[in-house]
Amino acid sequence: MNPTMTRLAEEEHPNKAFGWAARDSSGVLSPFKFSRRATGEKDVAFKVLYCGICHSDLHMAKNEWGMSVYPLVPGHEIVGEVTEVGSKVQKFNVGDRVGVGCVVGSCHSCDSCKNNLENYCPKSILTYGAEYHDGSITYGGYSDTMVADEHFIVRIPDNLPLDVAAPLLCAGITVYSPLRYYGLDKPGLHVGVVGLGGLGHVAVKFAKAMGAKVTVISTSPSKKKEALEHLVADSFLVSRDQDQLQGASGTLDGIIDTVSAQHPLFPLLGLLKSHGKLVLVGAPEKPLELPVFPLLQGRKVVGGSLIGGMKETQEMIDFAAKHNVKPDIEVIAMEYVNTAMERLLKADVKYRFVIDIGNTLKATPS
Ligand SMILES: [Zn+2]
Ligand SMILES: [Zn+2]
Repeated sequence: MNPTMTRLAEEEHPNKAFGWAARDSSGVLSPFKFSRRATGEKDVAFKVLYCGICHSDLHMAKNEWGMSVYPLVPGHEIVGEVTEVGSKVQKFNVGDRVGVGCVVGSCHSCDSCKNNLENYCPKSILTYGAEYHDGSITYGGYSDTMVADEHFIVRIPDNLPLDVAAPLLCAGITVYSPLRYYGLDKPGLHVGVVGLGGLGHVAVKFAKAMGAKVTVISTSPSKKKEALEHLVADSFLVSRDQDQLQGASGTLDGIIDTVSAQHPLFPLLGLLKSHGKLVLVGAPEKPLELPVFPLLQGRKVVGGSLIGGMKETQEMIDFAAKHNVKPDIEVIAMEYVNTAMERLLKADVKYRFVIDIGNTLKATPS
């Protein structure tokens, strides 16, 4: 570790903060003292109570996307309770239950920003490991406190438990937004969900809550029972079983594909009806092969989607609270985070780890 960098992080801003950071591409997290900016006039500061562990935290901690800046404090599924608001903050008060997702800043003037799509702003600022407007590096939610412009703060409805709400801020909006945008949110439609992990299981819950019939598509037959009985999906297809795929060909209005590993699109396109939409929300490292013939036959569409804007993120949280859409979580202590990361790598979690920051993040004596 570079001692100058660490001192800088601690003294850069007036407000002391404490969290866990990765120091290098081993990705191993350890206690880290840093600082947060003073609460500006449009800022909301809050005590972090829970933070979800997203798969991208793992990629970023290990610098697998080549963009990580160390020390790196991950976490973009952050929820807690407001401790201070700036003089010009209009929507929030001390004591409010709030959250921050993947983005903490944008330009506020481009077409995307004007259309409430801050997530597609070319100057959007990620919640951790990015450069903020003031030139400082952003730190995520594996920490005791958080501060953000109120524009990037969402309100957590009272009937939604905070630990359960956390994964909605990334996993939830990642699947909710394409269901809405691609018109797969109408009752009676038949929606496929590929992959049953952090994203996939929430996609099933949202699609069901919107009134769709849901088919889970997975490589592992072992997930059938879970999908049908626990997640209450309507049917299940093993993606390598030709007979099953053949039997279901041309039955789906749309597919939310959450898989981030290399996988064939051909069988999925075959499941779509005419005008069906295959929406990719996972991010495979290498390009996927796109068979064109099945697209031509029936004017099918292949699209993508990345998280969601702030207006839609609030709408998604409110929808989840109203329709009882709750991610399945395993709450862990801060000290368990490195083990959790190893388990996440093996997909050994149902379905999201959430760190109990409020009760288990203890500052080490200096
Ligand atoms: Zn995420
Ligand atoms: Zn913008």
